[in-house]
Amino acid sequence: MNTSVKKILIVGGGSAGWLTAGLLAADYRFDKSVQITLVESPNVKHIGVGEGTWPSMRSTLERIGIRETDFIRKCNASFKQGSWFHAWRVNNKTDHYHHPFTVPVAASEFDIAPHWFSHSANVPFAHAVSAQPAMIEAGLAPKQITTPEYAFVNNYGYHLDAGNFVTLLQRHAVTELGVEHVLDDVVGVEGEVEQPIKAIHTSKSRRIEADLFIDCTGFASLLLGKHYNVKFQEQGHILFNDAALAAQVNYENSDAQIASATLSTAQSNGWIWDIGLQTRRGIGHVYSSAHTSDAEAERELREYIGNDKANVEMRKIPIRPGYRESFWRHNCVAVGMAAGFIEPLEASALVMVELAAKYISEQLPANTQQMAITAKRYNDTFTYRWQRIIDFLKLHYVLSERNDSQYWRDNRNENSIPQSLKEMLEMWRHHTPSRYDVPVAEELFPAASYQYVLYGMNKLPFGGMRSISQRYQHQAMQHFQQNAVRKQKLKTGLPTNRELLNQIQSHGMQTI
Ligand SMILES: Cc1cc2nc3c(=O)[nH]c(=O)nc-3n(C[C@H](O)[C@H](O)[C@H](O)COP(=O)(O)OP(=O)(O)OC[C@H]3O[C@@H](n4cnc5c(N)ncnc54)[C@H](O)[C@@H]3O)c2cc1C
Repeated sequence: MNTSVKKILIVGGGSAGWLTAGLLAADYRFDKSVQITLVESPNVKHIGVGEGTWPSMRSTLERIGIRETDFIRKCNASFKQGSWFHAWRVNNKTDHYHHPFTVPVAASEFDIAPHWFSHSANVPFAHAVSAQPAMIEAGLAPKQITTPEYAFVNNYGYHLDAGNFVTLLQRHAVTELGVEHVLDDVVGVEGEVEQPIKAIHTSKSRRIEADLFIDCTGFASLLLGKHYNVKFQEQGHILFNDAALAAQVNYENSDAQIASATLSTAQSNGWIWDIGLQTRRGIGHVYSSAHTSDAEAERELREYIGNDKANVEMRKIPIRPGYRESFWRHNCVAVGMAAGFIEPLEASALVMVELAAKYISEQLPANTQQMAITAKRYNDTFTYRWQRIIDFLKLHYVLSERNDSQYWRDNRNENSIPQSLKEMLEMWRHHTPSRYDVPVAEELFPAASYQYVLYGMNKLPFGGMRSISQRYQHQAMQHFQQNAVRKQKLKTGLPTNRELLNQIQSHGMQTI
Protein backbone atom coordinates (compact mmCIF):
# COMPACT_ATOMS: atom_id res chain seq x y z
CA MET A 1 0.00 0.00 0.00
CA ASN A 2 1.35 3.40 -0.95
CA THR A 3 0.63 5.94 1.80
CA SER A 4 1.92 9.47 2.18
CA VAL A 5 4.57 10.19 4.78
CA LYS A 6 3.00 12.40 7.44
CA LYS A 7 3.74 10.99 10.85
CA ILE A 8 7.40 10.97 11.92
CA LEU A 9 8.45 9.31 15.14
CA ILE A 10 11.93 9.98 16.53
CA VAL A 11 13.09 7.50 19.17
CA GLY A 12 15.80 8.93 21.45
CA GLY A 13 16.31 12.37 22.97
CA GLY A 14 20.06 13.02 22.87
CA SER A 15 21.65 15.65 20.61
CA ALA A 16 20.85 13.53 17.55
CA GLY A 17 17.16 13.19 18.42
CA TRP A 18 16.54 16.82 19.31
CA LEU A 19 18.61 18.28 16.48
CA THR A 20 16.68 16.12 14.01
CA ALA A 21 13.34 16.95 15.62
CA GLY A 22 14.11 20.68 15.68
CA LEU A 23 15.28 20.81 12.10
CA LEU A 24 12.35 18.81 10.71
CA ALA A 25 9.82 20.76 12.77
CA ALA A 26 11.30 24.10 11.69
CA ASP A 27 11.36 23.09 8.01
CA TYR A 28 7.78 21.74 8.04
CA ARG A 29 6.22 24.31 10.37
CA PHE A 30 3.95 25.60 7.58
CA ASP A 31 2.84 22.10 6.58
CA LYS A 32 0.33 21.09 9.21
CA SER A 33 -0.02 17.58 7.75
CA VAL A 34 3.45 16.65 9.03
CA GLN A 35 3.42 15.58 12.70
CA ILE A 36 6.61 15.02 14.65
CA THR A 37 6.77 13.07 17.90
CA LEU A 38 9.88 12.29 19.93
CA VAL A 39 9.86 9.51 22.49
CA GLU A 40 12.75 9.16 24.90
CA SER A 41 13.47 7.02 27.89
CA PRO A 42 13.33 8.75 31.29
CA ASN A 43 15.73 6.06 32.52
CA VAL A 44 18.51 6.01 29.91
CA LYS A 45 20.47 9.25 30.02
CA HIS A 46 21.78 10.74 26.80
CA ILE A 47 25.56 10.45 26.48
CA GLY A 48 26.28 13.99 27.73
CA VAL A 49 29.62 14.40 25.94
CA GLY A 50 30.29 15.88 22.52
CA GLU A 51 31.43 19.40 23.13
CA GLY A 52 33.02 20.44 19.84
CA THR A 53 31.07 21.39 16.70
CA TRP A 54 31.80 22.45 13.16
CA PRO A 55 30.89 25.85 11.67
CA SER A 56 27.85 24.14 10.10
CA MET A 57 26.22 24.33 13.55
CA ARG A 58 25.70 28.06 13.04
CA SER A 59 23.42 27.59 10.04
CA THR A 60 21.73 24.61 11.71
CA LEU A 61 20.82 26.63 14.82
CA GLU A 62 19.72 29.57 12.72
CA ARG A 63 17.54 27.29 10.60
CA ILE A 64 15.95 25.80 13.71
CA GLY A 65 15.21 29.34 14.86
CA ILE A 66 17.42 29.61 17.94
CA ARG A 67 19.04 32.99 18.63
CA GLU A 68 22.80 32.79 18.90
CA THR A 69 22.76 34.91 22.06
CA ASP A 70 20.39 32.43 23.77
CA PHE A 71 22.54 29.52 22.64
CA ILE A 72 25.77 31.09 23.93
CA ARG A 73 24.19 32.01 27.26
CA LYS A 74 22.34 28.77 27.92
CA CYS A 75 24.89 26.23 26.69
CA ASN A 76 27.98 27.64 28.45
CA ALA A 77 29.21 27.89 24.84
CA SER A 78 32.40 29.42 23.48
CA PHE A 79 33.87 29.90 20.03
CA LYS A 80 35.89 27.23 18.27
CA GLN A 81 38.06 28.23 15.32
CA GLY A 82 39.59 24.85 14.57
CA SER A 83 41.77 22.15 16.11
CA TRP A 84 45.26 22.70 17.44
CA PHE A 85 47.35 19.53 17.49
CA HIS A 86 50.27 19.06 19.85
CA ALA A 87 52.94 16.34 19.90
CA TRP A 88 51.41 14.41 17.00
CA ARG A 89 54.47 14.36 14.73
CA VAL A 90 57.12 13.77 17.35
CA ASN A 91 56.86 13.09 21.07
CA ASN A 92 57.59 16.65 22.04
CA LYS A 93 55.11 19.21 23.40
CA THR A 94 56.69 22.03 21.34
CA ASP A 95 55.66 20.18 18.18
CA HIS A 96 52.30 21.57 17.02
CA TYR A 97 50.15 22.47 14.02
CA HIS A 98 46.70 23.89 13.24
CA HIS A 99 43.65 22.73 11.34
CA PRO A 100 41.73 26.03 11.23
CA PHE A 101 38.17 26.54 9.95
CA THR A 102 39.19 28.93 7.17
CA VAL A 103 40.39 27.67 3.81
CA PRO A 104 43.78 28.95 2.60
CA VAL A 105 43.91 32.41 1.05
CA ALA A 106 43.49 32.27 -2.74
CA ALA A 107 41.57 28.98 -2.48
CA SER A 108 38.91 30.21 -4.90
CA GLU A 109 41.56 31.25 -7.47
CA PHE A 110 44.40 28.71 -7.36
CA ASP A 111 46.26 26.31 -5.07
CA ILE A 112 48.70 28.31 -2.97
CA ALA A 113 50.32 25.31 -1.23
CA PRO A 114 53.15 24.75 -3.77
CA HIS A 115 54.25 28.37 -3.28
CA TRP A 116 54.69 27.80 0.42
CA PHE A 117 57.13 24.90 0.07
CA SER A 118 60.17 27.13 -0.40
CA HIS A 119 59.19 29.09 2.77
CA SER A 120 58.33 26.05 4.84
CA ALA A 121 61.38 26.38 7.09
CA ASN A 122 60.37 29.93 8.09
CA VAL A 123 56.61 29.84 8.49
CA PRO A 124 54.24 26.93 9.18
CA PHE A 125 51.74 26.24 6.40
CA ALA A 126 48.60 27.21 8.32
CA HIS A 127 50.15 30.52 9.45
CA ALA A 128 51.26 31.36 5.92
CA VAL A 129 47.85 30.82 4.34
CA SER A 130 45.42 31.87 7.08
CA ALA A 131 45.23 34.55 9.77
CA GLN A 132 43.25 32.22 12.03
CA PRO A 133 46.07 30.22 13.69
CA ALA A 134 47.61 33.45 15.05
CA MET A 135 44.18 34.43 16.47
CA ILE A 136 43.85 31.00 18.08
CA GLU A 137 47.29 31.26 19.64
CA ALA A 138 46.40 34.69 21.04
CA GLY A 139 43.08 33.38 22.46
CA LEU A 140 41.11 35.84 20.32
CA ALA A 141 37.46 35.59 19.33
CA PRO A 142 36.38 35.10 15.71
CA LYS A 143 34.25 38.27 15.70
CA GLN A 144 33.39 41.47 17.55
CA ILE A 145 30.30 42.29 19.63
CA THR A 146 29.08 44.46 16.73
CA THR A 147 29.22 41.51 14.31
CA PRO A 148 25.63 40.25 13.93
CA GLU A 149 24.52 36.84 15.22
CA TYR A 150 25.91 33.92 13.22
CA ALA A 151 28.07 36.25 11.05
CA PHE A 152 31.84 36.13 11.43
CA VAL A 153 35.19 37.80 10.85
CA ASN A 154 36.90 34.38 10.97
CA ASN A 155 34.82 31.25 10.37
CA TYR A 156 33.88 29.43 13.59
CA GLY A 157 31.95 26.63 15.27
CA TYR A 158 31.39 26.13 18.99
CA HIS A 159 32.41 24.42 22.17
CA LEU A 160 29.32 23.67 24.25
CA ASP A 161 27.97 21.89 27.28
CA ALA A 162 26.28 18.82 25.78
CA GLY A 163 23.71 18.49 28.61
CA ASN A 164 22.59 22.14 28.38
CA PHE A 165 22.50 21.86 24.59
CA VAL A 166 20.00 19.00 24.68
CA THR A 167 17.82 20.94 27.17
CA LEU A 168 17.83 24.04 24.94
CA LEU A 169 17.01 22.07 21.78
CA GLN A 170 14.24 20.17 23.54
CA ARG A 171 12.57 23.27 24.99
CA HIS A 172 12.70 25.07 21.66
CA ALA A 173 11.40 22.10 19.65
CA VAL A 174 8.49 21.52 22.03
CA THR A 175 7.42 25.07 22.91
CA GLU A 176 8.25 26.93 19.68
CA LEU A 177 7.94 24.27 17.01
CA GLY A 178 5.21 21.98 18.33
CA VAL A 179 7.10 18.70 18.60
CA GLU A 180 5.18 16.21 20.72
CA HIS A 181 7.39 14.88 23.54
CA VAL A 182 6.76 11.46 25.09
CA LEU A 183 8.81 10.36 28.10
CA ASP A 184 8.60 6.59 28.07
CA ASP A 185 10.73 3.52 27.43
CA VAL A 186 10.37 1.82 24.09
CA VAL A 187 10.02 -1.86 24.87
CA GLY A 188 8.83 -3.37 21.59
CA VAL A 189 8.77 -2.90 17.85
CA GLU A 190 5.76 -4.05 15.82
CA GLY A 191 6.46 -5.37 12.35
CA GLU A 192 8.20 -8.22 10.58
CA VAL A 193 11.97 -7.93 10.18
CA GLU A 194 11.69 -7.84 6.38
CA GLN A 195 8.83 -5.31 6.47
CA PRO A 196 8.35 -1.67 7.42
CA ILE A 197 7.83 -0.95 11.13
CA LYS A 198 4.15 -0.45 12.00
CA ALA A 199 4.44 0.94 15.52
CA ILE A 200 6.52 0.95 18.69
CA HIS A 201 5.26 -0.10 22.11
CA THR A 202 6.26 1.62 25.32
CA SER A 203 6.50 0.52 28.94
CA LYS A 204 3.36 2.54 29.77
CA SER A 205 1.43 0.49 27.20
CA ARG A 206 1.35 3.13 24.51
CA ARG A 207 1.36 2.06 20.90
CA ILE A 208 2.72 4.77 18.62
CA GLU A 209 2.31 4.40 14.86
CA ALA A 210 4.27 6.38 12.28
CA ASP A 211 5.11 6.48 8.58
CA LEU A 212 8.80 7.15 9.20
CA PHE A 213 10.78 6.06 12.28
CA ILE A 214 14.06 7.82 13.10
CA ASP A 215 16.31 5.80 15.37
CA CYS A 216 18.29 8.16 17.61
CA THR A 217 18.81 5.72 20.47
CA GLY A 218 22.59 6.11 20.55
CA PHE A 219 24.77 3.06 21.08
CA ALA A 220 21.60 0.98 21.76
CA SER A 221 20.55 1.33 18.08
CA LEU A 222 17.18 -0.04 19.07
CA LEU A 223 15.44 -0.02 15.69
CA LEU A 224 18.20 -0.32 13.07
CA GLY A 225 20.59 -2.47 15.08
CA LYS A 226 18.36 -4.54 17.34
CA HIS A 227 15.10 -4.80 15.38
CA TYR A 228 16.48 -4.93 11.84
CA ASN A 229 19.77 -6.48 12.88
CA VAL A 230 21.70 -4.37 10.37
CA LYS A 231 25.33 -5.41 10.51
CA PHE A 232 27.82 -3.21 12.35
CA GLN A 233 31.02 -2.66 10.37
CA GLU A 234 33.83 -2.63 12.90
CA GLN A 235 36.65 -0.17 12.13
CA GLY A 236 38.89 -0.94 15.09
CA HIS A 237 41.51 -2.48 12.78
CA ILE A 238 42.03 1.02 11.28
CA LEU A 239 41.26 3.37 14.17
CA PHE A 240 42.33 1.62 17.36
CA ASN A 241 40.87 3.92 20.03
CA ASP A 242 38.02 2.18 21.81
CA ALA A 243 37.73 3.95 25.17
CA ALA A 244 37.52 7.45 26.57
CA LEU A 245 37.92 9.00 30.00
CA ALA A 246 36.05 12.30 30.37
CA ALA A 247 36.53 14.93 33.08
CA GLN A 248 35.39 18.49 33.87
CA VAL A 249 37.97 20.89 35.24
CA ASN A 250 37.44 24.38 36.68
CA TYR A 251 39.53 27.32 35.52
CA GLU A 252 42.23 28.64 37.83
CA ASN A 253 40.29 31.90 38.06
CA SER A 254 37.31 33.58 36.42
CA ASP A 255 39.54 35.60 34.05
CA ALA A 256 41.52 32.65 32.73
CA GLN A 257 41.94 32.54 28.94
CA ILE A 258 39.36 30.48 27.05
CA ALA A 259 41.03 28.54 24.25
CA SER A 260 39.65 29.42 20.84
CA ALA A 261 40.28 25.95 19.37
CA THR A 262 40.05 22.36 20.52
CA LEU A 263 43.45 21.38 21.85
CA SER A 264 44.41 17.84 20.94
CA THR A 265 47.59 16.51 22.55
CA ALA A 266 48.93 13.13 21.48
CA GLN A 267 49.78 10.66 24.26
CA SER A 268 51.66 7.39 24.27
CA ASN A 269 48.55 5.38 23.33
CA GLY A 270 45.94 7.92 22.24
CA TRP A 271 45.30 11.63 22.63
CA ILE A 272 43.76 14.14 25.03
CA TRP A 273 41.08 16.68 24.09
CA ASP A 274 40.88 19.98 25.94
CA ILE A 275 37.84 22.16 25.33
CA GLY A 276 37.32 25.57 26.95
CA LEU A 277 33.77 26.52 27.87
CA GLN A 278 32.84 29.75 29.68
CA THR A 279 32.95 28.34 33.21
CA ARG A 280 35.02 25.16 32.89
CA ARG A 281 37.13 22.99 30.62
CA GLY A 282 36.04 19.61 29.26
CA ILE A 283 39.08 17.35 29.11
CA GLY A 284 39.26 13.73 28.07
CA HIS A 285 41.60 10.97 27.01
CA VAL A 286 40.78 8.77 24.03
CA TYR A 287 42.92 5.63 23.91
CA SER A 288 43.34 2.10 22.67
CA SER A 289 42.65 -0.52 25.33
CA ALA A 290 44.67 -3.03 23.30
CA HIS A 291 47.74 -0.87 23.84
CA THR A 292 47.31 0.53 27.35
CA SER A 293 45.36 -0.01 30.58
CA ASP A 294 42.61 2.20 32.01
CA ALA A 295 44.87 2.96 34.97
CA GLU A 296 47.72 4.13 32.76
CA ALA A 297 45.34 6.20 30.61
CA GLU A 298 43.99 7.81 33.78
CA ARG A 299 47.51 8.50 35.03
CA GLU A 300 48.38 10.31 31.77
CA LEU A 301 45.14 12.29 31.91
CA ARG A 302 45.71 13.33 35.54
CA GLU A 303 49.24 14.37 34.67
CA TYR A 304 47.87 16.54 31.85
CA ILE A 305 45.22 18.11 34.07
CA GLY A 306 47.73 18.77 36.83
CA ASN A 307 48.32 16.56 39.80
CA ASP A 308 47.12 19.34 42.13
CA LYS A 309 43.57 18.55 40.92
CA ALA A 310 43.62 15.02 42.26
CA ASN A 311 39.91 15.06 43.17
CA VAL A 312 38.69 15.56 39.58
CA GLU A 313 36.20 12.81 38.74
CA MET A 314 36.61 10.75 35.59
CA ARG A 315 33.95 8.92 33.64
CA LYS A 316 34.87 6.00 31.40
CA ILE A 317 33.01 5.72 28.09
CA PRO A 318 33.57 2.64 25.92
CA ILE A 319 33.72 3.35 22.19
CA ARG A 320 32.97 0.82 19.49
CA PRO A 321 34.48 2.31 16.34
CA GLY A 322 32.40 1.62 13.26
CA TYR A 323 29.16 2.22 11.41
CA ARG A 324 26.17 0.26 10.18
CA GLU A 325 26.22 -1.50 6.81
CA SER A 326 23.21 0.64 5.89
CA PHE A 327 21.42 3.42 7.71
CA TRP A 328 17.97 3.49 6.15
CA ARG A 329 16.02 0.21 6.09
CA HIS A 330 12.36 0.20 4.96
CA ASN A 331 10.74 3.08 6.89
CA CYS A 332 13.47 3.42 9.51
CA VAL A 333 16.57 5.64 9.37
CA ALA A 334 19.23 5.85 12.08
CA VAL A 335 20.86 9.16 12.97
CA GLY A 336 23.69 9.84 15.42
CA MET A 337 25.40 7.10 17.34
CA ALA A 338 22.63 4.64 16.41
CA ALA A 339 24.16 4.83 12.90
CA GLY A 340 27.78 4.64 14.00
CA PHE A 341 30.55 6.33 15.92
CA ILE A 342 34.23 6.98 15.37
CA GLU A 343 36.52 8.67 17.88
CA PRO A 344 36.00 12.45 18.18
CA LEU A 345 39.38 13.50 16.74
CA GLU A 346 37.85 16.00 14.31
CA ALA A 347 34.46 16.32 16.06
CA SER A 348 32.70 14.70 13.11
CA ALA A 349 29.71 13.21 14.96
CA LEU A 350 27.41 16.21 15.38
CA VAL A 351 28.08 17.41 11.84
CA MET A 352 27.01 13.97 10.58
CA VAL A 353 23.78 14.41 12.60
CA GLU A 354 23.24 17.83 11.00
CA LEU A 355 23.87 16.41 7.52
CA ALA A 356 21.54 13.48 8.16
CA ALA A 357 18.74 15.69 9.51
CA LYS A 358 19.06 18.07 6.54
CA TYR A 359 19.02 15.18 4.07
CA ILE A 360 15.94 13.60 5.65
CA SER A 361 14.14 16.93 5.76
CA GLU A 362 15.00 18.06 2.23
CA GLN A 363 14.43 14.63 0.69
CA LEU A 364 11.50 13.57 2.87
CA PRO A 365 9.80 10.91 0.73
CA ALA A 366 6.35 11.96 -0.41
CA ASN A 367 5.04 8.44 0.06
CA THR A 368 6.13 4.99 1.15
CA GLN A 369 6.72 3.88 -2.45
CA GLN A 370 9.31 6.60 -3.00
CA MET A 371 11.03 5.71 0.26
CA ALA A 372 13.03 2.80 -1.18
CA ILE A 373 14.73 5.12 -3.68
CA THR A 374 15.47 7.72 -1.00
CA ALA A 375 16.84 4.99 1.26
CA LYS A 376 19.22 3.68 -1.38
CA ARG A 377 20.58 7.13 -2.19
CA TYR A 378 20.87 8.03 1.47
CA ASN A 379 22.78 4.82 2.19
CA ASP A 380 25.21 5.45 -0.67
CA THR A 381 25.83 9.04 0.44
CA PHE A 382 26.38 8.24 4.09
CA THR A 383 28.51 5.14 3.52
CA TYR A 384 30.80 7.34 1.43
CA ARG A 385 30.89 9.95 4.23
CA TRP A 386 31.82 7.42 6.88
CA GLN A 387 34.61 6.10 4.69
CA ARG A 388 35.98 9.60 4.16
CA ILE A 389 35.92 10.34 7.88
CA ILE A 390 37.90 7.18 8.49
CA ASP A 391 40.47 8.09 5.83
CA PHE A 392 40.87 11.59 7.19
CA LEU A 393 41.20 10.55 10.83
CA LYS A 394 43.66 7.81 9.95
CA LEU A 395 45.76 10.37 8.09
CA HIS A 396 46.57 12.04 11.44
CA TYR A 397 48.12 8.79 12.67
CA VAL A 398 49.94 7.50 9.61
CA LEU A 399 51.89 10.73 9.24
CA SER A 400 53.23 10.57 12.77
CA GLU A 401 56.92 9.86 13.30
CA ARG A 402 56.36 8.94 16.96
CA ASN A 403 58.15 5.80 17.94
CA ASP A 404 57.64 5.82 21.69
CA SER A 405 55.08 3.00 21.76
CA GLN A 406 53.73 0.08 19.79
CA TYR A 407 50.52 2.10 19.34
CA TRP A 408 52.20 4.58 17.00
CA ARG A 409 54.10 1.88 15.13
CA ASP A 410 50.89 -0.16 14.71
CA ASN A 411 49.15 2.92 13.38
CA ARG A 412 51.66 3.06 10.52
CA ASN A 413 51.35 -0.63 9.76
CA GLU A 414 50.37 -1.04 6.09
CA ASN A 415 47.59 -3.46 6.99
CA SER A 416 45.83 -0.84 9.07
CA ILE A 417 45.70 1.78 6.29
CA PRO A 418 42.65 1.84 3.97
CA GLN A 419 43.50 1.41 0.28
CA SER A 420 41.83 4.73 -0.57
CA LEU A 421 44.14 6.56 1.85
CA LYS A 422 47.19 4.70 0.54
CA GLU A 423 46.34 5.90 -2.96
CA MET A 424 46.03 9.49 -1.82
CA LEU A 425 49.34 9.31 0.05
CA GLU A 426 50.99 8.04 -3.12
CA MET A 427 49.48 10.90 -5.14
CA TRP A 428 50.65 13.46 -2.58
CA ARG A 429 54.27 12.49 -3.18
CA HIS A 430 53.99 14.55 -6.38
CA HIS A 431 50.80 16.62 -6.03
CA THR A 432 49.12 18.70 -3.36
CA PRO A 433 45.77 17.47 -1.95
CA SER A 434 43.25 18.89 -4.42
CA ARG A 435 39.62 18.74 -5.45
CA TYR A 436 40.43 15.57 -7.39
CA ASP A 437 40.99 13.82 -4.04
CA VAL A 438 37.62 15.02 -2.74
CA PRO A 439 35.39 14.84 -5.80
CA VAL A 440 31.94 14.97 -4.21
CA ALA A 441 29.91 18.13 -3.59
CA GLU A 442 29.31 18.66 0.15
CA GLU A 443 32.48 16.71 0.95
CA LEU A 444 33.00 16.61 4.72
CA PHE A 445 36.70 17.47 4.58
CA PRO A 446 37.75 19.68 1.68
CA ALA A 447 41.21 19.47 0.07
CA ALA A 448 42.27 22.31 2.39
CA SER A 449 41.76 20.07 5.44
CA TYR A 450 44.07 17.44 3.96
CA GLN A 451 46.63 20.16 3.22
CA TYR A 452 46.51 21.51 6.78
CA VAL A 453 47.17 18.07 8.25
CA LEU A 454 49.69 16.88 5.65
CA TYR A 455 51.81 20.03 5.74
CA GLY A 456 51.20 20.62 9.45
CA MET A 457 52.85 17.23 9.92
CA ASN A 458 55.65 18.39 7.65
CA LYS A 459 55.00 15.90 4.86
CA LEU A 460 55.97 17.91 1.82
CA PRO A 461 55.83 16.24 -1.62
CA PHE A 462 59.09 14.39 -1.18
CA GLY A 463 58.85 12.61 -4.54
CA GLY A 464 59.38 15.79 -6.56
CA MET A 465 56.49 18.11 -7.23
CA ARG A 466 54.40 18.11 -10.40
CA SER A 467 52.67 21.43 -10.59
CA ILE A 468 51.43 23.99 -13.04
CA SER A 469 51.31 26.55 -10.28
CA GLN A 470 54.40 28.58 -11.26
CA ARG A 471 52.17 30.78 -13.36
CA TYR A 472 50.64 32.10 -10.11
CA GLN A 473 53.93 32.96 -8.42
CA HIS A 474 53.34 36.70 -8.30
CA GLN A 475 49.75 36.43 -7.01
CA ALA A 476 50.85 33.91 -4.38
CA MET A 477 53.41 36.33 -2.93
CA GLN A 478 50.77 39.05 -2.80
CA HIS A 479 48.39 36.72 -0.93
CA PHE A 480 51.07 35.80 1.61
CA GLN A 481 51.75 39.49 2.26
CA GLN A 482 48.07 40.38 2.51
CA ASN A 483 47.58 37.54 4.97
CA ALA A 484 50.41 38.90 7.15
CA VAL A 485 48.85 42.38 7.09
CA ARG A 486 45.38 41.01 7.90
CA LYS A 487 46.85 39.10 10.82
CA GLN A 488 48.26 42.30 12.36
CA LYS A 489 44.98 44.15 11.87
CA LEU A 490 42.87 41.40 13.41
CA LYS A 491 45.21 41.07 16.37
CA THR A 492 44.47 44.63 17.39
CA GLY A 493 40.80 44.60 16.35
CA LEU A 494 39.43 41.40 17.89
CA PRO A 495 38.54 40.92 21.56
CA THR A 496 39.69 37.84 23.45
CA ASN A 497 37.34 34.89 23.49
CA ARG A 498 36.53 35.59 27.14
CA GLU A 499 35.96 39.33 26.60
CA LEU A 500 33.48 38.66 23.81
CA LEU A 501 31.65 35.96 25.78
CA ASN A 502 31.36 38.31 28.79
CA GLN A 503 29.96 41.01 26.51
CA ILE A 504 27.41 38.58 25.09
CA GLN A 505 26.36 37.58 28.60
CA SER A 506 25.82 41.25 29.53
CA HIS A 507 24.48 42.79 26.31
CA GLY A 508 23.66 40.06 23.79
CA MET A 509 24.53 40.12 20.10
CA GLN A 510 22.88 42.05 17.31
CA THR A 511 20.49 40.26 15.00
CA ILE A 512 20.87 41.04 11.30
C1 LIG B 1 34.02 10.47 24.33
C2 LIG B 1 33.16 11.13 23.31
C3 LIG B 1 33.47 12.42 22.89
C4 LIG B 1 32.68 13.02 21.90
N1 LIG B 1 33.03 14.27 21.44
C5 LIG B 1 32.35 14.80 20.42
C6 LIG B 1 32.69 16.07 19.88
O1 LIG B 1 33.58 16.75 20.36
N2 LIG B 1 31.97 16.54 18.83
C7 LIG B 1 30.95 15.83 18.28
O2 LIG B 1 30.37 16.27 17.29
N3 LIG B 1 30.57 14.65 18.80
C8 LIG B 1 31.24 14.12 19.84
N4 LIG B 1 30.83 12.93 20.36
C9 LIG B 1 29.62 12.29 19.83
C10 LIG B 1 28.37 12.96 20.38
O3 LIG B 1 28.36 12.91 21.78
C11 LIG B 1 27.14 12.20 19.86
O4 LIG B 1 27.25 11.98 18.50
C12 LIG B 1 25.90 13.02 20.07
O5 LIG B 1 25.76 13.39 21.40
C13 LIG B 1 24.66 12.27 19.63
O6 LIG B 1 24.39 11.22 20.50
P1 LIG B 1 23.02 10.45 20.29
O7 LIG B 1 21.92 11.42 20.42
O8 LIG B 1 23.13 9.67 19.04
O9 LIG B 1 22.99 9.39 21.48
P2 LIG B 1 22.67 9.58 23.07
O10 LIG B 1 23.11 10.91 23.56
O11 LIG B 1 23.23 8.39 23.74
O12 LIG B 1 21.10 9.53 23.15
C14 LIG B 1 20.37 8.33 23.09
C15 LIG B 1 18.93 8.58 23.45
O13 LIG B 1 18.20 7.39 23.22
C16 LIG B 1 17.32 7.20 24.29
N5 LIG B 1 16.99 5.78 24.43
C17 LIG B 1 17.85 4.74 24.54
N6 LIG B 1 17.15 3.59 24.71
C18 LIG B 1 15.83 3.95 24.67
C19 LIG B 1 14.61 3.22 24.80
N7 LIG B 1 14.57 1.92 25.01
N8 LIG B 1 13.45 3.92 24.73
C20 LIG B 1 13.44 5.26 24.53
N9 LIG B 1 14.56 5.97 24.40
C21 LIG B 1 15.74 5.33 24.48
C22 LIG B 1 18.04 7.75 25.51
O14 LIG B 1 17.13 8.08 26.55
C23 LIG B 1 18.69 8.99 24.90
O15 LIG B 1 17.77 10.05 24.95
C24 LIG B 1 31.58 12.33 21.36
C25 LIG B 1 31.25 11.06 21.83
C26 LIG B 1 32.04 10.45 22.78
C27 LIG B 1 31.68 9.06 23.23
